[in-house]
Amino acid sequence: METKQFKAESKRLLDMMINSIYTHKEIFLRELISNASDAIDKLYYKSLTDTSVGMNKDDFAIQLKADKENRTFTISDNGIGMTEEELENNLGTIANSGSFNFKKDNELGDDVDIIGQFGVGFYSTFMVAKEVTVYTKPYGSEKAWKWQSNGVDGYTVEECGKDGFGTEIVLKMKDNTDDENYDKYLDQYQIQSLVKKYSDYIRFPIKMDVEHTHYPDDENAEPEKHIVNETLNSMTPIWKKNKNELKDEDYNNFYTEKFMDYMPPLAHIHSKNEGIATFDALLYIPSKAPFDYYSKDYEKGLQLYSSGVLIMEKCADLLPDYFSFVKGLVDSEDLSLNISRELLQHDRQLKIIAKNVEKSIKNELAKMLKNDREKYLKFYETFGLQFKFGIYQSYGASKDTLQDLLMWPSSFDGKNVTLEEYVSRMKEDQEEIYYACGESIARIEMLPQLERVKDKGFEVLYFTQDVDEFAIKVMMEYKGKKFKSISDGDLDLETEEEKEETKKTAEENQDMFKFMTDALEGKVKDVRLSSKLKSHPVCLSAEGSITIEMEKVLNSMPQNEGKEVKAEKCLELNSSHPVFAKLKDLYASDRDKLKDYTKLLYSQARLIEGLSVEDPVEFANLICGLMV
Ligand code: ADP
Ligand code: MG
Repeated sequence: METKQFKAESKRLLDMMINSIYTHKEIFLRELISNASDAIDKLYYKSLTDTSVGMNKDDFAIQLKADKENRTFTISDNGIGMTEEELENNLGTIANSGSFNFKKDNELGDDVDIIGQFGVGFYSTFMVAKEVTVYTKPYGSEKAWKWQSNGVDGYTVEECGKDGFGTEIVLKMKDNTDDENYDKYLDQYQIQSLVKKYSDYIRFPIKMDVEHTHYPDDENAEPEKHIVNETLNSMTPIWKKNKNELKDEDYNNFYTEKFMDYMPPLAHIHSKNEGIATFDALLYIPSKAPFDYYSKDYEKGLQLYSSGVLIMEKCADLLPDYFSFVKGLVDSEDLSLNISRELLQHDRQLKIIAKNVEKSIKNELAKMLKNDREKYLKFYETFGLQFKFGIYQSYGASKDTLQDLLMWPSSFDGKNVTLEEYVSRMKEDQEEIYYACGESIARIEMLPQLERVKDKGFEVLYFTQDVDEFAIKVMMEYKGKKFKSISDGDLDLETEEEKEETKKTAEENQDMFKFMTDALEGKVKDVRLSSKLKSHPVCLSAEGSITIEMEKVLNSMPQNEGKEVKAEKCLELNSSHPVFAKLKDLYASDRDKLKDYTKLLYSQARLIEGLSVEDPVEFANLICGLMV
């Protein structure tokens, strides 16, 4: 018989397993049971929609058998089984090879659940077995197949005999070594406790012959031993249990197993709902973003069960995009079993459930923010960006849901604050919510305009992400307070007297401003006095709907290539700065020089705003001119 080789990646993984970089060998049992349960699920689902199957729920079971003498462990199921082709495809290669990233593994610690993470459960058997044999007969087929492998030399497939459909897997356990005792996986108590630990929620009975010893009343009589084929798991799915029966650990274990994460979640939401829609939901907020989260490969969705039967692995309609990081499931008796994907989209029940799910996620996050700020900050660090996109992409429709979950660092203490906190601290005479944009907090803190606003005692939100300003533009306001960029042209910071004073100086210097505007040849709309500068001589401000920050972002988008977007800019001057006096001198005595200085000041202002200098050679020459 021909021995076939494993696919290259599978081989690498097998090497890793066999060489045992993985410490929790015991999870092989969980993986085998999950596969058996999946196989039964498939046939059970078929039986519900296809009457010719003729199986009742009670007919399904997973059977375990440990044979200490021959050192074999056997698991059998009466699930759907595998055809010869499926055997090849499923056990000869890694189902999900795309996500297998060897380099990534090497960076992970010892206690990391590689298997769960990559969904390569079957291979874990080779951590404990020196030979694995699979007998399988697909439901409705006459033929059965035997697959066998020692993990190292490839595998063989041949036809065999088998009673009944389903799959039986026999592990020939490894020999004990000084470091590892494989006999323990053949021990009745050990197996019982592993099933309880990992597979208690499996919805089909996991059975095993369990030996009971009965001690008769008569002390001289021999103890009686008898064997009972017992069900080891409680079978109630975790989400059907009462909250008070469950510990955080139970929720977390269920999560890491089911959703293939190696880190426990940040939070879980377990809800039972009755009313217009009857459903149970178990939702999790992961503590880390999956590696593909911010890519288009990421698929959002919740598992959808109908009365305990899985009908859809990822139901996208149950989650809005801005909560796409949530994992979990919904189980409802209101949904029809053979509902198709298209029908589901129009299902009224589903829409009601989705609304409820959204609300409970929002409430959970709000609760976290209120009661455990540290945790929320961690969460926000990972997934907060999604909320800003959510607001922007919905043109503000999701504002009510999301606005109190947003945070930005601010001039208050450099840390993240909410809009509610900002508004609660607003000064009596403050009308607007101030913000400043820049590529980093450090860059923003260098902005000349900031000083004056802070001096006035106003708090300023720091926007460092491209989407920030776009998001608040569609929000328009928060609790009646408008947002205002400190780079806006009409930032109103002066007292009445100051305004008078500015007006006077402006009138006196009108001609010079006109001259300077002309010197800049259309680059600015206006040169004028600033009300927001304190120790710096110049800054740029923008007028109209496009701010300087938006100009930067829009021009960096590939779809806008070739159509340059420009903010309407004004060069603002600080009349109390010595440079201003110098400009006035030059206007009277040397206009050519004033022209050069104007260009220099304009370039400086661009640099401070994080824009590039338009003509670097001219800029350099002007500076050299000052030096020599
Ligand atoms: P996963 O369960 O994540 O798909 P596994 O490595 O655990 O990956 O299993 C690979 C595939 O082998 C399964 O997807 C399934 O198609 C098949 N398989 C494994 N065990 C059984 C079984 N007991 N009955 C039917 N098919 C099975
Ligand atoms: Mg599996």
